[in-house]
Amino acid sequence: MTHSSVVRTQALLEVIRQGLLVSSRTQSRNMLGNRSAYVGMSDVGKYMECPRACIASRLFAREDSLSRALTLQRGHWFEEGVGDALEALGLHVIPQLELSLMTGNVPLRAHLDFTLVWRTPRQAIRILEVKSMEHLPAHPYAGHHLQIAGQTSLLASCWNEPVFSMKDATGKPLSAQCSFPEICRRHFGMELSECSSDVNIEGWLLCLSMKDARAFGPFFPDRETEAQVFTCARQIWNSWKESQKENGLLASIPHASGFHLLCNTCEFSHDCPKFREEAFQPQWEPALAKLDRLREQRKELDSQIREIENALKQAYSQSASQGWIETGGHRFRLSISAGRRSLNRVMLADRLTEAFQAAGLCKSIDVDALLGECEPEGEPIQRLLTKTIKQ
Ligand code: SF4
Repeated sequence: MTHSSVVRTQALLEVIRQGLLVSSRTQSRNMLGNRSAYVGMSDVGKYMECPRACIASRLFAREDSLSRALTLQRGHWFEEGVGDALEALGLHVIPQLELSLMTGNVPLRAHLDFTLVWRTPRQAIRILEVKSMEHLPAHPYAGHHLQIAGQTSLLASCWNEPVFSMKDATGKPLSAQCSFPEICRRHFGMELSECSSDVNIEGWLLCLSMKDARAFGPFFPDRETEAQVFTCARQIWNSWKESQKENGLLASIPHASGFHLLCNTCEFSHDCPKFREEAFQPQWEPALAKLDRLREQRKELDSQIREIENALKQAYSQSASQGWIETGGHRFRLSISAGRRSLNRVMLADRLTEAFQAAGLCKSIDVDALLGECEPEGEPIQRLLTKTIKQ
């Protein structure tokens, strides 16, 4: 690539990044309002995972890289897609239902991604919280669990209070400070019981990756979860106010301990005390033991996969088929691809030396140096080295 095309490529990507940032800010302002004026349920979920990361994200706004902006935007795109899918079925669905209340002197708001409502065969509510992720987890993360369980509990306990609001896709208010039955009456002409205990209420977590989806639930309303949400909200509000007074000092805020996936992508890891402790850090032992087990399982799985693949290759070779073989749920065939090509550096150096000698250039050209120049070193690669300590 020429220098000019490199510059133009970067400029194009920067335009996309800026566009994504502006669009994401506008969307967030329209639908969520001023996020520093209240504690949101995503704050509560984050606080559950790591109090320090939660408070830091409220204190310090970061300029997102293109890859981070895309990751965040992917969440919005997925959400829109799920909304379209639900609407296409003609379901009664409320997107981004807002619940706004006070716990003590702390303003708390929950934004429910999708709330589905129906009356027959019985009155029922399903709350969907959509999460976009790179890899689907086997179990929901603790923070997501608290977020959806908390939303479900709040909807049930605030059912008849004027704390619910709805906006359209541009953020224009459609209904404000209504009870939940009132919202359903206004928007769907649907009469619901005045008491949430007459209604079947469930929360579900829907995790989506680019290729697959996994749902976790049901989560039911319960008082204990609600109390946990209120406690977290008060702790977030108070710690955040304290840190603001101390010019963003995070020293007194606890951080997640032990192995935590969140730390991989945390924007506040550079000065996190978690990584500045003593050389003896027993909190990592469970993660390393798990890594050992997973590597063993991978070895075992690789060998099982090889065994089956070899058997199928042999079956195909011995069959008369020249195309696909159907098995009912699958089809298989053998394909032949070209072998790997590699460059023989010694042979190339010999050939170049001969050619330069023939052209009388051997004195002015150092073949080894020339080849070295053509072999730029890539970025250093990080490797995790682990060893089992023999007891
Ligand atoms: S690096 Fe980990 S422990 Fe430290 S603030 Fe981030 S998430 Fe929390």
